[in-house]
Amino acid sequence: MQLAPAPALEVTAKTPVVTPVAATEAPPWKWSWARWAPNEGATFFWVCLIHALTITGLVLYPTPGWKLVGIAYGLFWLGGLGTTVAYHRSLAHRAVKLHPVIEFPLVFFALMNGSGTPATWSANHRLHHAHSDTPLDISSPRVGGFWWSHLRWLWQAGQAPIAKWAPDLNRGRYLFFTRMQIPMLAVSLLAGAFFGWAAFFWIGPIRLCFALHAQCVTNSVAHLNPKVGPGEDSAMNIAWMAPVQAFQGENWHENHHSQPASARLGWTWAQVDLGWCFIVACEKLGLATSVRRPTAN
Ligand SMILES: [Zn+2]
Ligand SMILES: [Zn+2]
Repeated sequence: MQLAPAPALEVTAKTPVVTPVAATEAPPWKWSWARWAPNEGATFFWVCLIHALTITGLVLYPTPGWKLVGIAYGLFWLGGLGTTVAYHRSLAHRAVKLHPVIEFPLVFFALMNGSGTPATWSANHRLHHAHSDTPLDISSPRVGGFWWSHLRWLWQAGQAPIAKWAPDLNRGRYLFFTRMQIPMLAVSLLAGAFFGWAAFFWIGPIRLCFALHAQCVTNSVAHLNPKVGPGEDSAMNIAWMAPVQAFQGENWHENHHSQPASARLGWTWAQVDLGWCFIVACEKLGLATSVRRPTAN
């Protein structure tokens, strides 16, 4: 393993994460699951919609054939790669600088994956690292319970302020993606319908629902380390989550929390990290630069 200094993520702001509510009101993880934070009704509707359509699709078309499953999985795989390599490692942590030829399609597939915009994803994620597993964290299961960390925070926590947490992603070409999010999500959900009902359900909502949960297990399951005390970072490496996340590396979450500025999440060859393999390939082609590697432990 190549070693090089990997400076810590420089996030020091102390902005509370949760949506402003009256001081006397219960924190959002104590709300009913069906209540949403101001301006998050669309997120709640979206999550309910893709789940309802997923159940409908699985009942009506439980065996769509390998071709449709393959197309849906391919889009899921590209969306996951875009999220882990572009959103997470490159934009949120600046652990690698991607050439626009690589960055643009990766952001495209991450948006089509339902991962949000570069600005919103990075703002929420930077705040998560700055306040991991404290009441200021945006998605800690140690604070709000499993379902809070897995899904509910998406519509109940309120967005981390972009002006505070991701001003670098609130300009230039990233604004284009912010403006395109809703039309791209509509295309992502509906485009399969051109090829029939089975294609609609499997390429649209079933893929989007699986992609959502594959991403959410990092916030929930990978933050349930029983060995740490209250308020301590509970990130864990979880080997069985590797196939759920297409071996793209996000399951090595304890590694990541200990060195968030490293672009490599799996630190040994047994810790398969296809996101890192992709970055190394891009580096060799001159399409990824300033690649930060983990320091020796
Ligand atoms: Zn985490
Ligand atoms: Zn991170």
